[in-house]
Amino acid sequence: MTDLQIAQSISPKHIRDIASALAIPETQLEYYGQDKAKLPLSLIDENKVDSSNLVLVTAITPTPAGEGKTTTSIGLGDAMCQLGKKTITVIREPSLGPVFGIKGGAAGGGWSQVIPMVDINLHFTGDFHAIEKANNLLSALIENNIQSKTKSLGIDPRTVQWKRCMDMNDRGLRNIVAALGGKAGGIPRETGFNITAASEIMAILCLSNNFNDLKEKCGAIYVGDTWEGKPVYARDLHAEGAMAVLLKDAIKPNLVQTLEGNPAIIHGGPFANIAQGTNSILATKMGMSLADYVITEAGFGADLGAEKFLNIKCRTAGLSPKAIVLVATIRALKYHGGKPLSEVAQEDTEALEKGFPNLERHIKSLKSFGIPIVVSVNGFTSDTDAEKQLLKSHCEKLGVAVTLSHGWAEGGKGCLDLAEKVVEAVAQCTTQFTPTYSLEDSVRTKIKKVCETIYGAEHVILSNEAKSQLLRYESLGYGNLPICIAKTQKSLSDDEKQLGRPEHFDIHIREFEIAAGAGFIIPIAGNILRMPGLPATPAAEHIDIDENGEIVGLF
Ligand code: ADP
Ligand code: MG
Repeated sequence: MTDLQIAQSISPKHIRDIASALAIPETQLEYYGQDKAKLPLSLIDENKVDSSNLVLVTAITPTPAGEGKTTTSIGLGDAMCQLGKKTITVIREPSLGPVFGIKGGAAGGGWSQVIPMVDINLHFTGDFHAIEKANNLLSALIENNIQSKTKSLGIDPRTVQWKRCMDMNDRGLRNIVAALGGKAGGIPRETGFNITAASEIMAILCLSNNFNDLKEKCGAIYVGDTWEGKPVYARDLHAEGAMAVLLKDAIKPNLVQTLEGNPAIIHGGPFANIAQGTNSILATKMGMSLADYVITEAGFGADLGAEKFLNIKCRTAGLSPKAIVLVATIRALKYHGGKPLSEVAQEDTEALEKGFPNLERHIKSLKSFGIPIVVSVNGFTSDTDAEKQLLKSHCEKLGVAVTLSHGWAEGGKGCLDLAEKVVEAVAQCTTQFTPTYSLEDSVRTKIKKVCETIYGAEHVILSNEAKSQLLRYESLGYGNLPICIAKTQKSLSDDEKQLGRPEHFDIHIREFEIAAGAGFIIPIAGNILRMPGLPATPAAEHIDIDENGEIVGLF
């Protein structure tokens, strides 16, 4: 059965019943149909957040298909519920880019999914659209101010760094010339689009604590400079109020359910390679207010998702996970060991062994945070006994807890051993995580520490352009912000072709961007793009709807 067929074989409970199991009164729910609801921010209770247990699910360096973090998160959440632990799985909202591109959706897989799967993967409750509109409202206001004779702030159009955004992998919008068409069309200039998941508004929504904070962060967005070289912020355009109004519903976390009828919260969707990679702080705190355990996922490999989850999100929110689940697959390890992607389903213990260093590097990096780790091998039907045994004993030799889980094939039942190990790890955790860098470190030191401690790099090399941008951002007082490195997810290095555990490599910072509203500096490494393109054969070609409205081909 396909993921879609499995998802459609289960009739969802009314969302009111999911809410009532969490003791949320029906009057508090904002319904989006019968199986989705938004939750008011008033349900967040900081005291409960303090006593709840946060568990992070991350992964080794993934293959293009993904290694099963979402699937494992959902399976683990269901398994925890089977063990009688009050648990909510809290994850990100899918972006249409990957849905119509290559990777597929982000609602889990097999018997570990969140439903209604089709809605979640498409327009869901409209949060992405609202984010896009708030982003593009600011663009329109900037354009209008440049055009204005009476209210001009004197913005030098060449310095405007704010881009439009859209939730689609449209390579044609990556670099564009805007404002053509003569006098009434504005002053032509080079600009571009980011994918919505990489827009600063997405980052702001995911890092905001309440409406005031949201407004303040929107107001602090750095737009560009005046002809005199003075910085211009969104608040100078009086943009923040209207932007926040567009986000009035998007800021509220969405409640849905897993295939097993357990609660899941899905909210915000920044990518981990070009943004901070984890769901909103509000959703995490909402989950922690309503349950004793929250299972959450950070995107791509631990070098990107987990690092940013901890150093940016947890630090900002005052949160600390009590256990980290590191998802690995035998297929991906064989791929890192040199086996072509098309052959990873064939048994090959030699390639598997050659791929171990990638797993080892991620374990080593994660250990630097000081939080207990459990390796969860996401079982595929192609895995052989010899391969499973080899991987398990290798982890045991490394002294790290390991389990084989089968959330995809069996749902929660397939993750019971993982759940038990997670409960044990949580009970053992007595400390807060140790950040990789301190906010007082210089920006260069922060980058160096992440590159060395987490990627295993030797040196960091800044282009001349990056150096001058950094000087500018430091002079504007942004030197004490955390960093959000944009880097390929396909390698620990900034070169996507270097699989496994690359050694003796440097990280090249091409340029810097500033997310002054969200509150981080973005060093851009290698040739990563903030507006992806579609692959040669996009998933969109196989997605269809029939005369009865039945959807096919959506995974
Ligand atoms: P991630 O969150 O790490 O990107 P996902 O959980 O979204 O990965 O899984 C990526 C894809 O792989 C999904 O389409 C899912 O159905 C599929 N998948 C995950 N685990 C398995 C498995 N054990 N066997 C087969 N397919 C799987
Ligand atoms: Mg995922």
